[in-house]
Amino acid sequence: ISKDTEVVVIGGGGAGLAAAVSAAENGAKVILIEKSPSLGGNTLRSGGEFNSYDPVRQPNVEMTKALTHELEEILAFDEQEFGDYADTLRTLKGQVEEYFKSGDTSKLFDSPELHAIHTYIGGKRTDLEGKEISGKFELVDTLTSNSYSTIEWLESHGVKFQDGIGTVLGALWPRTHHNVEPLGMGYINNMEKRATDLGAEIMLNTKATRLIVENGRVTGVTAEQSDGTPVTLMASKGVVMATGGFGANTEMVLEYNNYWPELDANILTTNTTNATGDGIVMGKEVGASLWGMGFIQLMPSGQPGTGALSGGVWGSAETQIFVNKEGKRYVNEYAERDVLAAAALEQTDQTFFIISDNTSLGNPDLNGKTGWGDNYQDLIKNKNIFVADTLEDLAEQMGVPVDTFVAEMKKYNTYVDNQFDPEFGKKNFGDKLETAPFFATPRTPSVHHTMGGLEINEKAQVLNTEGSPIEGLFAAGEVAGGVHAGNRLGGNAITDIFTFGRIAGASAAGN
Ligand code: ADP
Repeated sequence: ISKDTEVVVIGGGGAGLAAAVSAAENGAKVILIEKSPSLGGNTLRSGGEFNSYDPVRQPNVEMTKALTHELEEILAFDEQEFGDYADTLRTLKGQVEEYFKSGDTSKLFDSPELHAIHTYIGGKRTDLEGKEISGKFELVDTLTSNSYSTIEWLESHGVKFQDGIGTVLGALWPRTHHNVEPLGMGYINNMEKRATDLGAEIMLNTKATRLIVENGRVTGVTAEQSDGTPVTLMASKGVVMATGGFGANTEMVLEYNNYWPELDANILTTNTTNATGDGIVMGKEVGASLWGMGFIQLMPSGQPGTGALSGGVWGSAETQIFVNKEGKRYVNEYAERDVLAAAALEQTDQTFFIISDNTSLGNPDLNGKTGWGDNYQDLIKNKNIFVADTLEDLAEQMGVPVDTFVAEMKKYNTYVDNQFDPEFGKKNFGDKLETAPFFATPRTPSVHHTMGGLEINEKAQVLNTEGSPIEGLFAAGEVAGGVHAGNRLGGNAITDIFTFGRIAGASAAGN
């Protein structure tokens, strides 16, 4: 098969579909190829959580005492320690001062600048060799200042967000949006529809194998279909790489890992088997700079035995309590994911339980399904979750010391009353956990996201090792590097794939 088009998109997850839609909206003729038999990638199996400042939904969220204290601390941050972000911090301090001066501090404060500073603080890390990394400022700025317009763009294409705002694990602030549809379905179905309505051609079972370069410019792609049919696609305007990460390629994870001394070949993953890093290999072959490859994100809360994201129940990070097999809390549940994963790896059997109650789960119907689409009754039967009317019974089912666990839960509720956690410094609290039935979900860390990838600039152009754009080559989503540095905030990946996917499509179409 040989075809000529203007823009070729490689990969049919969220980033690829957003790029295809946006390239077509910008007038380009588009072909998207996807190696698996269906669209969706990891985006489809994610929780779909989207972080953004939101002038419509956030004014309905109450400010807590703990978050107010966080804002006060920001006023004391030293700009000199914020490098490229110093101006953003200065602007943010001005906003916070205004907020305190306004006299109405009952409603949640947020801004793109606060999101940028959280992304910076949450991503600044040092690798095992002592090299420090933080998110490239211009990329983070692009992410947080375009996140809300990306929500509006998605809504205009039929994606529906819930009214409520929460904090997905490791998001650091209540700015997480949830889809109305489960998992990433709302995104994938609506984006696919929009892409095909605009005339984009989608070729499934078609795996890109190599980029075609002519006179220093990427002009097309060679691919192979699952029945062996060779494919050549020429792209007169550009190629968008949107192949996702390499979390399911354990060999590659171990080859590049420069953050986790504990990782070995037994590590599980939340990813689909298709997340094998193909785009990184293809990009490297044409001279792309690889950025931050050593930073691998472990999802602290994977399912024991499978690594899966689903198969459990929990509320927003404010209401989650983690206890170990000794029945004790051991970490600030509102911390970044790498902090949570590192702490989990130190617990007995590298396993812990997420404790929830009826209120924090939103009074669920135990004959119905969880937000992940699992049947409650199946989860109970398979001991994926434990449910009990008393904390004592819950502890028995979990196999943890009853008295210790019950005392620990009581103590936590006093921390909620005081809005202060003297043991682990939890930064934000929801309701107390005191309403039966109580729930426990066993969890263990598994490979979730690979922060590193093809280095891009704010137009989503892929850079070569000299820092100049490679003509005709764009990248977006998990395959790209530069946004998330050493630790990606929970809920920032979906924001990233749609924001940069949209930019990549427009750039490739010539805008
Ligand atoms: P992102 O969140 O960055 O969009 P996803 O994991 O959701 O990443 O989607 C990436 C998609 O790219 C997956 O559906 C995967 O099957 C596809 N893919 C990966 N490698 C190739 C390849 N070589 N050719 C075509 N599609 C690919």
